[in-house]
Amino acid sequence: MAKDHVVIIGNGPAANEAAIALRERAPELRVTIVGREHVRQYKPHFLPALIAGKITEHDLFVRPIESYSQAGIKLRLGQEVVDVDFDTRRVILAHKEVLRFDGLIIATGGKPRIPEPFLVFQDVMMTLKTLADARVWIEKLARVDSVLIVGGDLTSVAFAKALVSMGKTVKLMVDEHGFWPLHLGDETRQEVAQRLASSGMELVACRKLKGLARVSADEIRVETDCGRYTVGAVGAFFGLVPDVKFLARSGLYIERGIIVDESLMTHYDGVYAAGDCAQVYHPALRDYWVSIGYRNAENLGRIAALNLIGGKVCAETPPESIFHVEGVKVPTSWWAEI
Ligand SMILES: Cc1cc2nc3c(=O)[nH]c(=O)nc-3n(C[C@H](O)[C@H](O)[C@H](O)COP(=O)(O)OP(=O)(O)OC[C@H]3O[C@@H](n4cnc5c(N)ncnc54)[C@H](O)[C@@H]3O)c2cc1C
Repeated sequence: MAKDHVVIIGNGPAANEAAIALRERAPELRVTIVGREHVRQYKPHFLPALIAGKITEHDLFVRPIESYSQAGIKLRLGQEVVDVDFDTRRVILAHKEVLRFDGLIIATGGKPRIPEPFLVFQDVMMTLKTLADARVWIEKLARVDSVLIVGGDLTSVAFAKALVSMGKTVKLMVDEHGFWPLHLGDETRQEVAQRLASSGMELVACRKLKGLARVSADEIRVETDCGRYTVGAVGAFFGLVPDVKFLARSGLYIERGIIVDESLMTHYDGVYAAGDCAQVYHPALRDYWVSIGYRNAENLGRIAALNLIGGKVCAETPPESIFHVEGVKVPTSWWAEI
């Protein structure tokens, strides 16, 4: 099925892999990537190393900016999609420009999740999802020596280690939300926690965060069920949730992510979703799964592109896979059990 103009929303691995596959397999198509951030594609898993000063921003980027024009891909950076009209097949940008599409791939990824009980502390807590977030952390860490990490998801492990390597004091509050969306049993959680402690982090045994108050620009008073202390910064690491709020009134079926079939197509013809924002039908599970990960996103991006141009490829990610958290085997995929 030929589609003259394919718009791809997002600029992460799913989006970029989709764009490359489209240009390689269907060079007659016009392909446009629309990305909210002002920078070209980078590797989010390198952000902790950037913060620790082990690499430069240059090392984060996946490919040179010229490669987009060379490949015939139109790259629109710093432009946010705020709505999609599926009847007229138009994407609406924040600055009111409208882009017509024949085919659409939505690859908007995830955004940091803050569980309900922690929303009240949102303004005081920092997250780490984007390069912009990393730059804020770098500035902050130039001024503070101690960090409390609340939640303790999988990305926080690398981040906490980076902080320790910088000589920072790291407190880790791994409560019942710790390592979400993994459901670690008490024993495994304790084992993971012990290993983290042996890497130089201080584990906070408390289970309830009662208060966070900013005392000064670089001082936060923390109140828990077992005492009070002061830190320079508090990081919230509770995993990622699909970044799809802007589509809430578009008519797309959205549950945890954008509902798609095994070919990654939504119920609109020629409209696909891939990567962390997609909730994919799995025939063996007879259910929909959201799965997170860099390679997984690349793979889904490529599959969506191939199917958009008439392929018949199924997204066959196993419902369960083994993750290694600090040497402990965790038999689940990050998001399969949400
Ligand atoms: C700190 C950190 C460490 C990680 N470590 C690992 C790891 O070790 N291993 C691993 O497999 N995975 C890791 N991940 C997860 C991995 O990076 C993601 O699973 C992967 O990037 C998802 O790719 P994606 O293309 O689906 O979405 P994303 O990479 O999230 O990209 C989505 C893109 O869409 C853009 N966007 C969103 N909404 C809009 C909009 N409305 N308009 C325009 N653009 C929009 C965003 O700005 C972004 O460019 C890590 C993530 C982080 C943040």
